[in-house]
Amino acid sequence: MSDQYFYEGASGPWELVIGLEVHAQINSKSKLFSGAATAFGAEPNTQVSFMDAAMPGMLPVINSHCVEQAVKTGFGLNAEINLISSFDRKNYFYADLPSGYQITQFTRPIVGKGYLDVELEDGSSRRIGITRLHLEQDAGKSVHDQHPDKSYIDLNRAGVGLMEIVSEPDMRSAEEAAAYVKKLRAIVRCLGTCDGNMDQGSMRVDINVSVRKPGAPLGTRAEIKNVNSIKFLTQAVHYEVDRQVSLLEAGEEILQETRLFDAAQGITRSMRSKEHAHDYRYFPDPDLPPLVLEKAWVETLRTNLPELPDAKKDRLMEEYELPLYDAALLVTETEIASYYEETLQALEAVTPKGAKLVANWLLGEVFGALNRDGKTLEDCPITPGALAGLVMEIQKDVISGKIAKDVFSMMWETGKSAPALIAEHGLQQVSDDGAIIPIIDKVLADNPQMVEEYRQGKDKLFGFFVGQVMKIMAGKANPELVNKLLRERLGTA
Ligand code: ADP
Ligand code: MG
Repeated sequence: MSDQYFYEGASGPWELVIGLEVHAQINSKSKLFSGAATAFGAEPNTQVSFMDAAMPGMLPVINSHCVEQAVKTGFGLNAEINLISSFDRKNYFYADLPSGYQITQFTRPIVGKGYLDVELEDGSSRRIGITRLHLEQDAGKSVHDQHPDKSYIDLNRAGVGLMEIVSEPDMRSAEEAAAYVKKLRAIVRCLGTCDGNMDQGSMRVDINVSVRKPGAPLGTRAEIKNVNSIKFLTQAVHYEVDRQVSLLEAGEEILQETRLFDAAQGITRSMRSKEHAHDYRYFPDPDLPPLVLEKAWVETLRTNLPELPDAKKDRLMEEYELPLYDAALLVTETEIASYYEETLQALEAVTPKGAKLVANWLLGEVFGALNRDGKTLEDCPITPGALAGLVMEIQKDVISGKIAKDVFSMMWETGKSAPALIAEHGLQQVSDDGAIIPIIDKVLADNPQMVEEYRQGKDKLFGFFVGQVMKIMAGKANPELVNKLLRERLGTA
């Protein structure tokens, strides 16, 4: 299925409706209600306090740093901060939940309604409502693959602080859902409130998907649990829409249920029928008083926020006249935006054209090479200054954009600068009429038949002549000049 707004079924169009619940692990050295450490990858059961193991008589103590992280994230989501919130117990039995309940915020979350804007590839943007953000504990982990007939429990993660961020059912395509998760990730990483590492489980997404006839009330949804990559999210939505539309068109009903995504097969399968709030017997946690925030403290956090991705995006668009989509891509990581602005600063002068050129090179060539070599921007062999050096050679017409790609590859391999490589390999563009005209004349003389056809109106042949000239000149002729001179020689200038 393609990412269209409407999904075409046998009975006509269907509209997709998606709402996401994202569990974001709070960046914090210690857990939400205990002093135990939270580092990823530690030996099993080495980061467990008596509180996390639910020993009798242990009392939770709220970690103020986690509270601060939640408030900052709330500001990042343009959301209301609730000065009074409270904690509830959500009761269920699971082997990796020793207390038999999870401490969460059910009735009064710390963060209320907000929104987040996402930018789409076609240059449009959409505003997605945030319903709430609440604090809660993570559970432990059952390990089933270490022994043929035993399961193990690792409680390192038990009690780690999570922010559950719930969206309104405002998304209408897999692309929008993916853009939402990417934007959320950019915001929490910028704020330093969650590392956003989906492959380590620091951000896990529950996807609620339903379909309806355009304009109809919301359909029954399925909830796909714990999806941990953008790719899987996209696959899961596509699969689920196909499944639901097929069922409905066959006259069957959608069951409200929890499903799991099977990455190996790219399908979702039923896990359990939907549980309801009353199944959990929520009640206020008697060990924790309401969480009361001081207005002045909250205000201090607000005034000390870093420049958020959207503000940065708006600034890039305004200062450099960048298109929305480029700006949105550049602000997905603080490091990318910094690299970009450092490159601009290293140019002799910053013009809108130059700013767009640098964006193209960074988002295209640099990221292409980083992905190919499995590198990140931190270990990029080309510094912002060196990239600016290459871009200036293009701007000054010393080399064409095409030759610049070869120079880029050599810079990547050798670490040498663009001017040095251009000199070393004699790659300067030929912008001299006297050198180009004889070649043009030779190409035209060698192809009289084509010249004739061109003169009779076969315009497409112009490209052929350009190609021949470029070939003979090893790609070094100034393409604009070749075009101009060719037109003159063909008498069509
Ligand atoms: P829960 O999963 O705890 O029962 P909610 O009813 O609050 O909670 O909804 C959870 C998520 O499901 C929210 O992100 C919401 O936007 C989304 N959602 C609710 N109804 C639908 C629907 N009909 N189709 C798609 N998503 C929905
Ligand atoms: Mg849910």
